[in-house]
Amino acid sequence: MTSFKTFAQVCEKLEGISSSLEMTSVVASFLKEVDDRELEIATRFIMGNVFPVWTEKELGIGTGLLYAAIAKTSSLPVRSIEELVKETGDVGKTAEKAIANRKGHFDLFSEEELSIQDVFSRFLKIADLSGKGSQDAKIKNLQYLFGASKPGETKYIARLAVEELRIGVGEGIVRNAISEAYDVPSELVERGYMLVNDYGLVAYTAKKEGATGLLKLSVAIGIPIKLMLAQVAEGINEAVTEMDNVAVEWKFDGARVQIHKDRNKVTIYSRRLENVTYSLPDIVRSVKTFVKADTAILDGECVALDPDKRPLPFQEILKRFRRKYDVTVTAIEIPLSLNLFDLLFLNGESLIDTELINRRKKLEEICDKSIVASQIITDSAAQIGIIYKEALAAGHEGVMLKNPGSLYTPGKRGKNWLKLKPIMDTLDLVVVGGEWGEGRRTSYIGSYLMACRDPDTNRLLTIGRVATGITDEKLGELTDIFKDIVILENGIHVEFEPKIVFEVAFEEIQKSQNYDSGYALRFPRLINVRSDKSVEDADTIEKVEQLYARQKGK
Ligand code: AMP
Repeated sequence: MTSFKTFAQVCEKLEGISSSLEMTSVVASFLKEVDDRELEIATRFIMGNVFPVWTEKELGIGTGLLYAAIAKTSSLPVRSIEELVKETGDVGKTAEKAIANRKGHFDLFSEEELSIQDVFSRFLKIADLSGKGSQDAKIKNLQYLFGASKPGETKYIARLAVEELRIGVGEGIVRNAISEAYDVPSELVERGYMLVNDYGLVAYTAKKEGATGLLKLSVAIGIPIKLMLAQVAEGINEAVTEMDNVAVEWKFDGARVQIHKDRNKVTIYSRRLENVTYSLPDIVRSVKTFVKADTAILDGECVALDPDKRPLPFQEILKRFRRKYDVTVTAIEIPLSLNLFDLLFLNGESLIDTELINRRKKLEEICDKSIVASQIITDSAAQIGIIYKEALAAGHEGVMLKNPGSLYTPGKRGKNWLKLKPIMDTLDLVVVGGEWGEGRRTSYIGSYLMACRDPDTNRLLTIGRVATGITDEKLGELTDIFKDIVILENGIHVEFEPKIVFEVAFEEIQKSQNYDSGYALRFPRLINVRSDKSVEDADTIEKVEQLYARQKGK
């Protein structure tokens, strides 16, 4: 077993390093050192995850519960814990400070060391608790962990409890660290990750079976695959020149789903690859009725239509995806329809290395027409223009232009799928801060500071503030959400845990000294809270630079 202390020391070291290369080598040596039995857990831990992101397991520890556990362990009132959080800006430092100061701390607990496995087992217990009394039981389990932890470890237990490790280790660093630790090509590590969605499993496979093992990792029913993504099309003519023949589909205004059918069992994953099956009984029914296959993995878009068959706003669809209670009633209120456009696995065989045109043939063979998105293959720019206008007239976003000869590349935003939309692209940005409003809006957080990602350094770079496009009612709702994730407050300024993604439209991108990114948005307005997207899905500085360059080229 590897001690949790080793893990905590590695985290502490990583916090002091800013170079990605150096971080990679620290993570690589740690992975080499970890006991085989804990390698999967340790790999997830270092990324701030306790379970593979796609599993249904959730710790369900909010800040309230965490503060209560810290308060109980340290015998301080919750109010003092909240104050410490304000002072330190961090739940980890708060836990460390509060608990280390506790009287008699070291006499109360045994000298036994916590192992990585011990911490994981406790977290597993916490995740398995539900129903009446579960909150208290969760607090007790956390108290146990805090009690058993030594200074230096407490901080990381608190941060892991809210799955926010703050050591700057993202997917890129872990990919390269696995490659370095086990001497396997980083492309194979990444490929494995796109297919099984869990660096824990990838690290274990790389260690035990090397490159050959990684190559054997494949698409499997029950494990969601990263979704293939689209790039912005320069224009119809460019797409036709590039692809010759273009497979044209409507770009539906809905929400992405990946559906796994295993005989009579249907599982639905959202764009973030979270299991949303329970909320979507009507889609489950459609798949059971209209898909004729023993096993299949399907890719598509769910749309909510009004009685005139026009798509309802995105928020309405999200109501369906988030619903945990009364799902049947909501399904009647907001019925969803399914538009499948891809097939990644059929009757035991992966299709991701099969050309789109053949995947599509099989999709049509096994599905009723009513649930398949129409597709036309053409080399005529004029015909694409007509389909584009039809899609917009029907209230959808535009068209997708796909290369019929292309393979399915999980997790990749490549040239084989292009999206054509009328307005200048919106950006999906992470909300990192805000300001309390003035006048009528003093009880609301009235403006939000947003940031894009820098995947190289794993930092968030601010790019502007948004205050328009938000009604008072919406401000109230947003304030309720953001209140819970405040990490620092100074006068009217607040800093948030970077958790929430805004889709923001704007007129122009300008160069600016005012924000870390070096850019600012002109006339930004909030389009949507993208609760279907996680911070990793937010747009990058590279995308901002591309948009800026294109705008200049006009
Ligand atoms: P964006 O979110 O702007 O990057 O656009 C890509 C998204 O468009 C995908 O993730 C899907 O959710 C959505 N979409 C709608 N219709 C289609 C389609 N026919 N093919 C692929 N993606 C589609």
